[in-house]
Amino acid sequence: MLAAVPYWWGAAVPPRLPKRTPQRRCDVLIVGAGYTGLSAGLTLARAGRSVQIFDRQRPGEGASTRNGGIASGNLRPSYRQMRRKFGKARALALAAEAKAAREDLAAFIAREKIACDFELTGRFTGAATAADYESLAREAEHLRNDLRIEAYAVPRDEQMRVLGTEFYHGGLLRNDIGGLHPAKFFVGLLAAAQAAGATVHGETAVLGLLPKAGGFAVKTAAGPVEADHVIVATNGYTDSVDPWLRRRLVPVRSRIIATAPLSNNLMADLMPKRVMCAETRKLHYYYRPAPDGTRILFGGRDGSIVGDPAWPTQHLQRALTDIFPVLDGVPITHGWWGNVAMNRDMIPRIFSRDGLRYAVGYCGSGVVWARWAGQKAAWQILGDERAQSALDFRPPPAIPLFNGTAWFLPAVYAWLGLQDKWRRPTARAEAETHHGP
Ligand SMILES: Cc1cc2nc3c(=O)[nH]c(=O)nc-3n(C[C@H](O)[C@H](O)[C@H](O)COP(=O)(O)OP(=O)(O)OC[C@H]3O[C@@H](n4cnc5c(N)ncnc54)[C@H](O)[C@@H]3O)c2cc1C
Repeated sequence: MLAAVPYWWGAAVPPRLPKRTPQRRCDVLIVGAGYTGLSAGLTLARAGRSVQIFDRQRPGEGASTRNGGIASGNLRPSYRQMRRKFGKARALALAAEAKAAREDLAAFIAREKIACDFELTGRFTGAATAADYESLAREAEHLRNDLRIEAYAVPRDEQMRVLGTEFYHGGLLRNDIGGLHPAKFFVGLLAAAQAAGATVHGETAVLGLLPKAGGFAVKTAAGPVEADHVIVATNGYTDSVDPWLRRRLVPVRSRIIATAPLSNNLMADLMPKRVMCAETRKLHYYYRPAPDGTRILFGGRDGSIVGDPAWPTQHLQRALTDIFPVLDGVPITHGWWGNVAMNRDMIPRIFSRDGLRYAVGYCGSGVVWARWAGQKAAWQILGDERAQSALDFRPPPAIPLFNGTAWFLPAVYAWLGLQDKWRRPTARAEAETHHGP
């Protein structure tokens, strides 16, 4: 029987908080109690500000307890693409900030003593084609030379030492990326924010944000609140409370399946180094061992936009066995999804508009970025010199003909899948070439 809840909730469920009447006034009101909102709230409360954080679901019930826990701090465009688009200075600043954000997450977890199974395992990115391998090898060089990140290309004939598959044309191994238990991390962050004095209101929607002299009049489902500052931290769950933002962030479903426990021997064959995994296909997958090393969690994005159809889960299962044919027929115990937020140039953002402060748009890589951006947004309010960020530039542009319903996603994902087919023989056929009798 497939459980439709995150595997992670077996160890840490998004809590149902007691309902409280909001204080009528506070220094900062935060919309959204995921990593972003809590990180901002923690920073502000520790600096002595009165903070109220509202979430229309249970805190953490958005993406922050559903994700893969891969602490990547990814920037979707390559360094070369960023250089072309934003110039060398911003491209370098963004790459340097990703490195700083990854390091800061590790330091934060240690400092706050959050027991969330964080481990700097390294990450392998599998090349879908020989040409992709060449560009990954160049990327390894850039990471080593420009950013002092330990990274190297793994040729196809050495791949098995890192990952038990012949599916890829070699890949890139970098040592600065690790994994954590996302729901345990969330619960630790929530406890820290509450202990610092931030009030968190679960299952209480923010319904309206009205500018007024010196701040905002905020309508919440539990009553009105006046706040000097507002931070919008709604990312892939942005709703009609901010229609302007909604036209700029595309909610895309990211979905994960968990296998039943596998034997120690099989896990050692498939994931000998227990690294986090990514790949270069356009319709790409991300996967990892569970923190206790007993099973594989395998994720990808899909173009489904309504209901909860079965096909994306079946599709994930096929993709898993394309990479690891030995897992054909292995039971799947959990399958779930949540929303990530894409934007037009695929760079996370911190910005202000009409007095509202935003930290959003992590393009599926918020484990590192969301906590970092929330902290930066808080520092901006505090006038702290650490507030400066390469993520702080013009807001992402609006997406033409889009007002929150991503009607174009099925076509986009079909197109990405086609490109993968053209770039190489079908994944299944290729895997069979290598593993068939
Ligand atoms: C399946 C999946 C796998 C992922 N895997 C990874 C991964 O391996 N590595 C990685 O780095 N990232 C991953 N991500 C992305 C990562 O989880 C997110 O980027 C991150 O959690 C974003 O945090 P957040 O606080 O900004 O948003 P969220 O955690 O999504 O929180 C936003 C909150 O805003 C609330 N909200 C919205 N509107 C209102 C309103 N009007 N009033 C009150 N509350 C409101 C929502 O209820 C929601 O809880 C994944 C995401 C998913 C879904």
